[in-house]
Amino acid sequence: MATVLPSPPRVGMVSLGCPKNLVDSERILSKLRADGYEMSADYAGADVVLVNTCGFLDSAKEESLEAIGEAIAENGRVVVTGCMGREAEVIRERFPQVLAITGAHQYEQVVEAVHEAAPPVPSPYLDLVPQARPETGLKLTPRHYGYLKISEGCNHRCAFCIIPQIRGDLVSRRPDAILREAEKLVAAGTKELLVISQDTSAYGLDLKHAAWPWKGGEVRAHMTDLARALGGLGAWVRLHYVYPYPHVDRVIPLMAEGLVLPYLDIPFQHASPKVLKAMRRPANEAKVLERLREWRALVPDLAVRSSFVVGFPGETEEDFDYLLQWLQEAQLDRVGAFRFEPVEGAPANDLPGHVPEEVKEERYARVMELTARISAAKLAAKVGKTIDVIIDAVDAETGGATGRSKADAPEIDGEVHLRDAGHLAAGDIVRVLVEESDEHDLFGVPERVAAAA
Ligand code: SF4
Repeated sequence: MATVLPSPPRVGMVSLGCPKNLVDSERILSKLRADGYEMSADYAGADVVLVNTCGFLDSAKEESLEAIGEAIAENGRVVVTGCMGREAEVIRERFPQVLAITGAHQYEQVVEAVHEAAPPVPSPYLDLVPQARPETGLKLTPRHYGYLKISEGCNHRCAFCIIPQIRGDLVSRRPDAILREAEKLVAAGTKELLVISQDTSAYGLDLKHAAWPWKGGEVRAHMTDLARALGGLGAWVRLHYVYPYPHVDRVIPLMAEGLVLPYLDIPFQHASPKVLKAMRRPANEAKVLERLREWRALVPDLAVRSSFVVGFPGETEEDFDYLLQWLQEAQLDRVGAFRFEPVEGAPANDLPGHVPEEVKEERYARVMELTARISAAKLAAKVGKTIDVIIDAVDAETGGATGRSKADAPEIDGEVHLRDAGHLAAGDIVRVLVEESDEHDLFGVPERVAAAA
């Protein structure tokens, strides 16, 4: 008689917040998958629902609470994890029926809580059969790009931020472990590696930049060494959350060599020295514009993305004008702006000179208007040129496709919309003739199609 295998328990997952949280969700799901769980795409089919929350801003907390409420209403068996886990009382008060609450990166505790809520069914059959892609873990991001988390926590204490309180000081992963993970991702089809952390330039400081054996040689726990080694794996490598410490200058030649994408995501947050000082920002030095010029001289197609906060306490009209002038000069390729929002527990809340909401709104609109203009002009300059594009999605009905150039990170930057691209597949990297542009996106056609026309 055939052995009837018991059906494995099923877990639903709601992942909120930033890419870093998404990486945590992937890790948790990988472990659960390895423990024999199956994933459920909907509430109804799940034995337990895991909500990975974000607690960075008050608005994110509210969104997290709403997600918990929805999971309880739809399923009833809910485990909460993530940044909001440190406010267990708030969650318990509103949703006493939540089964367990754990904090950010408490992988074992989350997995344990799920084991308790929906015990795994021990099965020598299932446990011996490798699960889907056990070597790379279960990815929530599309197969052709993947986030690579290189460290956790942060040694800085920016006045508006509570991440160090939630995640602690910098803890870097070993470079060989990161490279092994990256190799597996590339072997499994990942074409683009997105390097993330709270402070990528600080990578390895806590490890005293020690070296580990790697492929017959060694690799140091240092941003430039890691970037070089990652660049050798043959995938696109995109660096996020880079602070302009002096050693960042040494990554630029790697871009010139084509090992790392000519893309830097540097969260400047402001330009006025006075505001930067009040924000207690790292690498807050005056020569940034000069260095941008030097970097661009070495890598002319370098794309710089950044984010800025307007309406920080004490920001005067003069400070704000300084920022606008700086932006005009810096000609950044991609800019995100935020109106200052007090975060519970952040030192900035006690600073004098809070800026009225309507002034924040007005400044926000001015920053967006200026940076959209700069972006539109930069994109217009690409019309008529041929660029590399990684395909994210193909629309079989229209024959069109959407992708990104080397200057576009997924989800936060612009896109390249292609016509006559039905023959392509997600993950393909193709040469594209740019035909049109708008404020944020490019429009084009695969070079092969253009040549045949
Ligand atoms: S660098 Fe500043 S904003 Fe970024 S995580 Fe560290 S403390 Fe927060």
